[in-house]
Amino acid sequence: MTTSHYIAGRWVEGQGSDCISVNDPALGQPFAELMAASIAQVDQAVTAARGALPAWKNTSASERAAYLRGFAEQLGQRREALITLQMRNNGKPRHEAEIDLDDAIATFGYYAELAEQLPSKNRDVPLAAPGFSARTRLEPVGVVGLIVPWNFPLVTSAWKLAPALAAGCTVVLKPSEVTPLIEQAYGQIADALGLPAGVLNIVNGKAETGAALSNHNGLDKLSFTGSNSVGSQVMRSASAQCRPVTLELGGKSAIVVFDDCDVGQAVEWIVAGITWNAGQMCSATSRLLVQDGIADALLPRLQVALEQLRVGNPLTEEVEMGPLTSQAQWLKVAGYFATAREEGLHCLAGGKALDRDGWFVSPTLYADVPKDSRLWTEEIFGPVLCARRFATEGQAIAEANDSRFGLVATVCSADLERAERVADALEVGHVWINSVQAVFVETSWGGTKGSGIGRELGPWGLSAYQSVKHVTRCLG
Ligand code: NAD
Repeated sequence: MTTSHYIAGRWVEGQGSDCISVNDPALGQPFAELMAASIAQVDQAVTAARGALPAWKNTSASERAAYLRGFAEQLGQRREALITLQMRNNGKPRHEAEIDLDDAIATFGYYAELAEQLPSKNRDVPLAAPGFSARTRLEPVGVVGLIVPWNFPLVTSAWKLAPALAAGCTVVLKPSEVTPLIEQAYGQIADALGLPAGVLNIVNGKAETGAALSNHNGLDKLSFTGSNSVGSQVMRSASAQCRPVTLELGGKSAIVVFDDCDVGQAVEWIVAGITWNAGQMCSATSRLLVQDGIADALLPRLQVALEQLRVGNPLTEEVEMGPLTSQAQWLKVAGYFATAREEGLHCLAGGKALDRDGWFVSPTLYADVPKDSRLWTEEIFGPVLCARRFATEGQAIAEANDSRFGLVATVCSADLERAERVADALEVGHVWINSVQAVFVETSWGGTKGSGIGRELGPWGLSAYQSVKHVTRCLG
C-alpha cells in the first residue's frame, strides 16, 4: 500500500473508498495498491492551491524559472527509476520510456526560459486616441485543475505543470488511476526543491476523484487530456461554472503515402506511427491512405514488418512493442478484432491477442477497409492499422479530412511542394511531412474538430494559463 497524495506540501494516505491496483501489464499482475483520495481530500487540495496562489503569483518570474530548472534537473537525477517504472507500469519499451523522460525534462527547461521572458511581455499599448495611456499585464489564470490519462504520464503532466507553474498558477494534478505512481515523482521533486506548500498538489483516484476535481467551484480553469466521453463531461462542469477549459482528446489520424515514396522508408514511418506505445497514442496514425501506384508494393512489405515486430515484456526482453497498458484497453482492442471479423474485414497481419500471460496483442493491419467500418472511423487506441487506397491528391485530402477528429496527420512524398500543399489542406492541429510523431516543445500540440479545444506546448501552452489585463490611464 502506497501513500500517494500530495496535499498542501504533505504526503497523506488516501481516505477514499476506491482501492487502486497498479499493474504490470506484461504479466497481467498487480505490483502495488493505493487508496484513492476522498472528495474531502480533493477539496483540501484545491483549498491548499487557493491558499498558495497569492504568494506564488507574486514570486518573480526568475524565481519560478529556477524552480522549473530544478524540476528538469531532478527528473534527470531520477532517470533510471522513472524509466523502469514506465516500463513496468505502462509496458513501454526502454527507448520509448527514455524519450518520454527526456521530453518531460525538455518541457520544464523550455518553460523556465519562457518564464524568464515574462517581464518583457508586459507592454505599453499605443493608442490612436489622445489623452490616455494603456499597458498590458499577463496574469496567471489562478488555481488550475489538471486531469491526465495513462498513456504518456510523465509527458502529459509536464506539458501542463510546467507552463502552469511558469505562468504563476497553483495546481491540483489528478493522474490516471492506471499509472498513479509515475507522477508522484513531481511531488517528490516539489519536496526536494522546497516548492512552497500548496503550489503543487497531487490527488489520485478514479472517475469519482476526477469528477470531484472538475466539478469543484474553487478552480479557475481546468485542463483535461483524455477520452472524448469524459472530456464532454468535464466541459459540462466547466460550462456550469462558466470557466475556461482546455481539452486534449482523441484522434483517428491519417498517414498519406504518395507513390513517389521509397517503400522501405514509408513502411518504417507507417509502423512507427501505429506501434509506438503499442498504438496507445491520441496521435496514432491509424488510417493509412496509400496511393494506387505504390499500394501493391507497400502492403506486403508492411505486413511482413508488422509480423516481424518484436513484441514482449520490456523488462525482460529486447522488444520493439510492449503490451497494452491495461486489461480494459486489451479487452477494448479485442472487441475491435471481433468487430472486424463480423464486418468481414480483410486482415493482412495480426487481428488477435497473443497467446501468453499479460495484455498483449499482435500488430494488426486491415486492408481495403470500407469508409463506414467502425474500425475506420473510431479511435481504437491499440496497434491496429486500417488501410485504403486512393488515386488522386484531392481524394487523399478528402478522405483524410472525412473524420470527426482532427488531431494530426503524416504526409509522405518525395514531392515537397505537394506535401506542403496537402499539409495546408488537412484539417488537423499538427502535420508531419516525411517524419513521424516528431513532437518538439517549441511547436504546438492540440486538435481541431472533435480532438479538442486549445493548444499545449510552445508559447500557446503558456498562454493557456494566462489572463490578459489592460490598465488604461487618463493622462489629463
Ligand atoms: P479517460 O478519459 O478515461 O481518463 C482520463 C482521465 O480522466 C483519468 O485521469 C481519469 O481518471 C479521469 N476521469 C475519468 N472519469 C472522469 C470524470 N467523470 N470526471 C473527471 N475526470 C474523469 O482517458 P484514458 O483512457 O485515460 O486515456 C485515453 C484517451 O486519452 C484517448 O481517447 C486518447 O486519445 C486521449 N489522449 C489525448 C491526448 C491529446 O493530447 N489529445 C493525449 C493522450 C491521450
